[in-house]
Amino acid sequence: MPAMSELSVSTPKTESRHVKLLVLGSGPAGLAAALYAARAELAPVVLTGTELGGQAALTFSIENYPGFPQGVGGADLGELFQKQAERFGALVEFDSAYSVDLSTRPFKIVADSGEIRADSLIIATGASPIHLNIPGETELTGKGTSYCATCDGWFFKDKKVVVVGGGDSAVEEGLFLTRYANSVTVFHRRDSLRAGAVLQKRALEHPKMKFVWNTLLTEIIGTEKVEAVRTKHLLTGEEGLFPTDGAFIFIGHTPNTQMFAGQVEMKDGYIKVDNHMNTNIPGVYAAGEAADSHFRQVITSAGMGAAAAIEATHFLEREST
Ligand code: NAP
Repeated sequence: MPAMSELSVSTPKTESRHVKLLVLGSGPAGLAAALYAARAELAPVVLTGTELGGQAALTFSIENYPGFPQGVGGADLGELFQKQAERFGALVEFDSAYSVDLSTRPFKIVADSGEIRADSLIIATGASPIHLNIPGETELTGKGTSYCATCDGWFFKDKKVVVVGGGDSAVEEGLFLTRYANSVTVFHRRDSLRAGAVLQKRALEHPKMKFVWNTLLTEIIGTEKVEAVRTKHLLTGEEGLFPTDGAFIFIGHTPNTQMFAGQVEMKDGYIKVDNHMNTNIPGVYAAGEAADSHFRQVITSAGMGAAAAIEATHFLEREST
C-alpha cells in the first residue's frame, strides 16, 4: 500500500497492559474518535489494523470533505487526522487485534503485540472490498486484477483496463484510471449507474471511458498476467472475450467485523448501534463502515467516531464516580 506508507506509527509494547479506551482501526472513524478521546484526556490507544489510514487513505483525492476546497489526498488527510490526535496524546500503534472477549469489563483484546485490557472500546474496523468470486480472480490478483486504482493505476500507463461496478467507487476509480490507461471500459450489470450525478456526468462524457451495460464478468483470463476477461450479457446470454491488461473490481464492501461475531449484536454483518454509537454492550461503541452500511463517507465516519468518543468519555466518567 504505497500511498499509506508515509504515515509513521509507534512501535507497540509487548507486555499485557490496561488502557482506559482502546480504538480498533485507523480510518476516519478511528482517528476522529482518538482525537476526541485524547482531548478528553483518556490517552486512547489506537491499533491501526493492516490498512493504516483505512480505505480513505487509498483514495487519490477526496473532494467532499469540508475544509479542503481544492480536495485533499486520502493519505494526506489520514496523516493530518493522525497528527492531530497524537498532538493531544493519542497513541497510534501499528498493530492488529485478532480476538476480543467482551463478556466482562475490562474488555480483553488480544493483538499481535499481546493482551490489552480496556475499560471501553471503540470498534472502527471499517470494511473491505467484495470480490467477484469468479475463476482467475484470486490467481491474478496483483497480476492485473486490483481493488485499488490509487495503488495500482500507475502500472497501467498507456494500457487498456476494465472496471466492474456502477457505484461511486467504480466511477470515481475509473475516472482516476484515465490518468494512466488509454481506455477504461466499465462493465455494469444494469443499464444505468448508481453513482452520484456529478461523477456520472464526468464519466459518461470522458473520451477515454466506455460503458458496457447489462454485462457480467464470468472469468479473468491470463497466465502470468491478465490478458482478457470473459463476459456474459445478462439479457441475451451472449458470451464474449474482451482483451484487457487489467481488471479493477469495485462492487461494494463488506464490514470487517468477523472478530466480534457472537459477542456484540450485528445486522447483516454490520455492528448494530443506536444514534449515540452505543452497541448492546455498555462501554463498547462502533463507528464508521463497521457499523454503517448506508452513508459510508469520510465525514460521516469521522462524525460517528467523534460521537463514539464523546459517549465513551461520559461512560467512563459515570463509571468512576
Ligand atoms: P455500491 O454503491 O454498493 O455499488 C456497488 C456497485 O457494484 C453497484 O453498481 C452494483 O450494481 C455493483 N455490483 C454489486 N455486486 C456485483 C456483482 N456481484 N457483480 C457485478 N456488479 C456488482 O458500492 P461503492 O461504489 O463501493 O460505494 C459504497 C458507498 O461508498 C456508497 O454509499 C457510495 O456513495 C460511497 N462512496 C462515495 C464516494 C464519493 O462520494 N466520492 C466515493 C466512493 C464511495 P447495482 O447498481 O446493480 O446494485
